[in-house]
Amino acid sequence: MSKLKLATVWLDGCSGCHMSFLDMDERLLELAAMVEVVYSPLVDAKEFPDEVDITLVEGAVASVDDEKKIKKIRAHTKLLIGMGDCAITGNVPAMRNPIGVEEILNRAYIENASAQAQIPTVGVPKLLPIVRPIHEYVKVDVFLPGCPPSAATFNSALTALVTVAALDISALTRFGA
Ligand code: SF4
Repeated sequence: MSKLKLATVWLDGCSGCHMSFLDMDERLLELAAMVEVVYSPLVDAKEFPDEVDITLVEGAVASVDDEKKIKKIRAHTKLLIGMGDCAITGNVPAMRNPIGVEEILNRAYIENASAQAQIPTVGVPKLLPIVRPIHEYVKVDVFLPGCPPSAATFNSALTALVTVAALDISALTRFGA
């Protein structure tokens, strides 16, 4: 039986959701028997693959790059999972919304600078005016709430989804885009 292709992605989040995913500990070995991790901060792949069965997305959409990335991921993923409260509600990164991008950049790079006060524009993603959860840009199939979701939540959800999908790969297509 071929393994399901699994990806994990990190948009605007703190990495805590990925850390909690890794807290599955030895249960990761059982998962590894059923999936191949084809793209993730945890592995070396640089380009999101053309066909992925399940993608876990941590973090909200905060920049132009995030927006492009989540749309590309959706186009190439059968089952998209919002992992954690930042992906689902905006949560921590959305705390900047009432303040405004310009005010925050000025405060960080101009007012608090002790030398070379300037807002960086080269090599950094352009921030969007408002941080939004991923479902405001693309269809999300499964929501795993929590800040972060517990390792037990990851284990239950992934075991169930992977087991169903392994029995009937077309089930993923019915769930997905
Ligand atoms: Fe970090 Fe919590 Fe956001 Fe996950 S939901 S990325 S743990 S702040």
